[in-house]
This record gives sequence, C-alpha cells and structure tokens, in this order.
Amino acid sequence: MTLGNSANLASEELWALDKAHVLHPWTNFGPFEDKGSLVITRGEGCWLWDSEGEKYFDAVGGLWCTNIGLGRAEMAEAIADQARRLAFSNTFVDMTNDVSALLAGKLAALAPGDLNRVHFTTGGSTAIDSAYRLIQFYQTCMGRPEKTGVVACENSYHGSTYIAQSIGKRGSDRVPQFRYMEAGIHHLSCPNPYRAPDGMGEAEFCDWLVAEFRALLDRVGPDRIGGFFAEPIQSSGGVIVPPKDYLRRIRAICAEHDILFVADEVVTAFGRIGHWFASEDEFGIVPDIICTAKGLSSGYIPIGAMIFSDRIWAAMAEDGGRWFTSGFTYSGHPVACAAGLKNIEIIEREDILGNAKRVGGYFEKRLKTLEALPMVGQVRGRKMMMCVENVADKATKRVLPEGLNESKLISDECEQMGLMVRPLGHLNVMSPPLVMTDDDVDFVVRTLERAIRRVTDRLVRQGVRFG
Ligand code: PLP
Repeated sequence: MTLGNSANLASEELWALDKAHVLHPWTNFGPFEDKGSLVITRGEGCWLWDSEGEKYFDAVGGLWCTNIGLGRAEMAEAIADQARRLAFSNTFVDMTNDVSALLAGKLAALAPGDLNRVHFTTGGSTAIDSAYRLIQFYQTCMGRPEKTGVVACENSYHGSTYIAQSIGKRGSDRVPQFRYMEAGIHHLSCPNPYRAPDGMGEAEFCDWLVAEFRALLDRVGPDRIGGFFAEPIQSSGGVIVPPKDYLRRIRAICAEHDILFVADEVVTAFGRIGHWFASEDEFGIVPDIICTAKGLSSGYIPIGAMIFSDRIWAAMAEDGGRWFTSGFTYSGHPVACAAGLKNIEIIEREDILGNAKRVGGYFEKRLKTLEALPMVGQVRGRKMMMCVENVADKATKRVLPEGLNESKLISDECEQMGLMVRPLGHLNVMSPPLVMTDDDVDFVVRTLERAIRRVTDRLVRQGVRFG
C-alpha cells in the first residue's frame, strides 16, 4: 500500500484513515464519529469528484477560495517549475527571493491608494494577526502606547488564531471549551439591515450604527483605540452587505482619530465581487491596511498578505533603529508567490473579474427568485458571494427551531443531486469559482430550489408551520 497515492487505496480505507487520525476544523464530534467525512479526490473547474466517483458542482468554491477553478495545468506547471528552480528561500531580515519581490510589486500596483507595502503570511488568519501587531507597532511608534485597543463587529469572522478569533465574534464559534482575549477588544452591532432593530430602515440603521461607534469612542476614549477591523461584506457571519455608506462613514471617523482601518478582504478580494479589491471599487473607501489570502492563489497553495500604506511604513521606519519582529518561516514562500503571480496573470488574461461581474449579476438575479418560496426570508449578497436565509415566518423573520438544522437538510438534499452549498446556521451560502457560466447558474438555482421545496414539504409533514 502506498500512502499518499489515493488511487491505491479503496474508498473505505481512505474514509477510515481520516476518521481514525484527523481532527478537522469545526468538526462536530457526534456526526463525525458516526459518519466520518466525504472524501474528495479530484477537482476540475467548478466540479469535484469523491472517492466513490460521484460528481458535484462546488458552489462553495472550496471555502470561498477556488476563484479561477481547479485543475489548471498552467498553475501546476508554475508551481512545479518554481519548486524545481527555488523551492525555498527565506525573506527574513535582509534576504528575499525574486518571486516574492515580483508578487509584492504586483499587489502594490493592484491595491488602492498608497497601500504599497506588503507583508506576506501563510493565510488569512495570520494576515489578521499581523495587522493586529502592526496596529500596536504603529501606534507605539507614534508615541501612543495606550492606543492599542481594537474594534470589530458582532458576527464577524477574521480567522482562527487566538487573536483572530478574539477579534471576530460569531456566537456559534464561542464554545465554552475555548478562551478568547477580551481586554482591549470591543464589538459593535452587526451591520445586518435584514435584522435591524425595531424594524429600522436602512438609512436610519446606518445612523444608529455610526452613533454606536461614536458612543464607544466616547466611553473608551479614542486614545485607547488603535484599529478597526471590518470585512467589507461579512462572509462567514452570513454574507452581510452593510447599509449604504456605513463603511465610508466608519472609515471617516477612524481617519479623524488615526484609528487604523483594516479591511479584511480575505474573501472579497481577487474577483469575488468583481474587483481586485472591494474596498475602493465597490464601497468607495481606501483602508490603511488590507488583509487578503484565499483568491490570491485561488486555493492552489496557502498564502496570505497584509498590504499597508506608505504612511504607516514612514512612521515605522522613521528613526531607522526599529525591528518588526513578526513574520513566518513561509512569509514570501517562493512556490506560493509563483502560484500567486500565475493566478493573477490568469485572472487578467481571461478577464475573470469581468466574468464575475456578468455571471455574478445573473446569479444574483436568478437566486433572488427563490424569495418566492415560503421558507426563504431573504436572498442576499453580491455577485459570486451569495446566501439564502431560511425563516419560519417571512413577516416576522422568525427563524426555525435550532434542532431542525434545516440548512444542513437542504445542503444534504443538494448533495444528493450533485450540488454543494454550505450550511451555516439558518443560511445556505454560496461562493462558486468565478469561472461559473450562466448554465451553471441555472443548474445551481434549479437544484437549490428543488432541495428547499423538498425540505419544506418534509418539515410541513412533521408539523412545522410556515407563516
Ligand atoms: N477573514 C475572513 C473574512 C475569512 O473568511 C477567513 C476564512 O474564512 C479568514 C479571515 C481566515 O483565513 P484563513 O482560514 O486562511 O486563515
């Protein structure tokens, strides 16, 4: 038996090895011990195959990341060529490698404003971690060692290191077995217009959110807040598009007090909603720091980046005697950077941003039709980042009882019909590869509709009443 070559192992053996040895992220132990995991062995474009040979359209896009689609020989060759030429060379202190310099230059050219400085990381969480550290570093350089608290939103997800999970705050992640850092981390209400308090309209809700931020600054003191973390669209917290002008107004308040505004574009960059970066092109703001990962290599290889402004760099580098003692063995890993460069080249050459805008627009429109179904409270999102929220009562927006797990029932139904969508609380979330076609959209929407209808019928038979 040759481990590492799945073709030599029977499907059940792979399944059993995984079940015996792997601790999966976010695994729910009961179902895992019972059913184990679905073993995927091949991917091409938007499609995945499992170890039994079943085929699925991957509307999850890996995990918001397979932007250019899987199985591209050109990517494999770029990775292999780089591994042959220079598989590793560190970027610490006074060393670099040619590909990391090239990718940094490319990112600086694509990023908005004066965001010309790049710190490479191993993924999104480590980019967020690095941003948290950069905030402390910068504010201390500016002579404000107390100005190191940070602000983020309820229901945000910023990754899974200790700090990243402490900055993010999704209720379901906060299990009692873990601890989180609380000192100096402040959370504001989630900017979800669908669940605005007291039935507020969007503009009124936006005023309310902005006032909440101002009240926090009055309470804590702007001299103790050094950074604000925001996902332009909250991804894992439920594909939440904030009220119009929310980000612009929050960003302006941050600028008033030199609170560094960190746009967590781990999901929204590299075409997810049709732009290289969403901050400026979609929401009209230039952040101080952008954290990104995922679509940077389209998931072909782990890599992340924190991109920050010349202004921050000038303050850090001013006296010439400081060290930024943060970074990773694999910061600027040549193979990862070669994958990033090739990925960007493909996005440019094939106008994948254009496809994301055009097909994404069609996806939004087609998916919106599902709002006619009795269980669908709202379809929301932008372009290639969409979700369907299930409710028991459309008028009151009351959710279904927790134990029903209707979004998992829906995703299981979809899976039976060859479609993968992601269950997340009361939502089914989709972030397909950006190379999806109009025909693919029709398949996804048709299949999802069928699954929602089947689950609704089953729940009605069990006595669930829809308002
Ligand atoms: N930030 C956002 C918005 C994310 O969605 C994620 C992952 O899903 C992260 C950060 C963490 O990225 P990673 O899993 O690459 O560490």
